[in-house]
Amino acid sequence: MAEYELAAPARTGHLARCLCGGHRFDLAWTYATPPEGETRYPGLDGRYHREVWRCTACGHFLIDPGVDLEELYSGDSAEATHGDHMRETFERLIALPPERSDNHVRVRRITEFAGDWLWAHDAEQRRPRALDVGSGLAVFPWALASEGWSVTALDPDPRQAELARTLACVPTVCADFTTADGLGTFDVVTLNKVLEHVPDPVMMLNRTTSLLEPGGFVYLEVPDGEGAAEDGPGREEFFIEHLHAFSLTSVGLMIAASGLAALRVERLREPSGNYTIIAFCGLPELPNRQEERRALRVLVHERHDDAAAAWLELDEPVREPLD
Ligand SMILES: [Zn+2]
Repeated sequence: MAEYELAAPARTGHLARCLCGGHRFDLAWTYATPPEGETRYPGLDGRYHREVWRCTACGHFLIDPGVDLEELYSGDSAEATHGDHMRETFERLIALPPERSDNHVRVRRITEFAGDWLWAHDAEQRRPRALDVGSGLAVFPWALASEGWSVTALDPDPRQAELARTLACVPTVCADFTTADGLGTFDVVTLNKVLEHVPDPVMMLNRTTSLLEPGGFVYLEVPDGEGAAEDGPGREEFFIEHLHAFSLTSVGLMIAASGLAALRVERLREPSGNYTIIAFCGLPELPNRQEERRALRVLVHERHDDAAAAWLELDEPVREPLD
């Protein structure tokens, strides 16, 4: 294994630094041919070379696809991935028995968490409003809407946005999440297997903070590189579409760097066999108002001007008469 310092961004526009700020990487392995099961992109014929680098500090994997993915996708990404069969794939996925469906388990996980968390923060008990970022085949927004949630789907790919509109039958925005305006606010923002596709996941995750209602939460799923690496380089967590595969540490650091607070982070093995890290995140708590008032009271006790006197008059608790 060679240790290597990324002197310049890799060919993909990757950050030269890891999410953790680290800049030293080990070359974990390389690919000269596509691993079994990976989508064969016509543009890659005869020039396949990928490198997987691992941060020595936090264990995060940076994956250099060796080509400009935008260029690769500008061909027929959705077609290459799902062919003309996106509709059939949608039908097949929603018909999976619950115990074999990653999506079923995901929806249950989120609705259960919302039951504990959202209701505790929302006196109105209204229908939760969710934004699903990177809705893809739209199986998730469909299932969440079936639970009675109000769901908006967002996808930058017009073909996938069309799927959400016509198959999941939910309001749909076709846009780049990092630049889209006027999305509104939501109780829950979900990013299922999205952050591993973008060069700067912290920037994308940070965007959710301005869209959350007070007391709302973000749910995210990313590939667990740590778990998958135990099974070797053939795992789909390292397939060409992914620029990142995460460690438990790098997920925690990403959440903190994006201005969110981790509420729950877990590694799990999904029904499909995928190694995945999931996280629920909230907005950091406002400072405790009682603490703030107590601190103010200490301050005014140390001053003797009119403002201090006025504050004391207004705010000093009425003393119980002494017996
Ligand atoms: Zn790192």
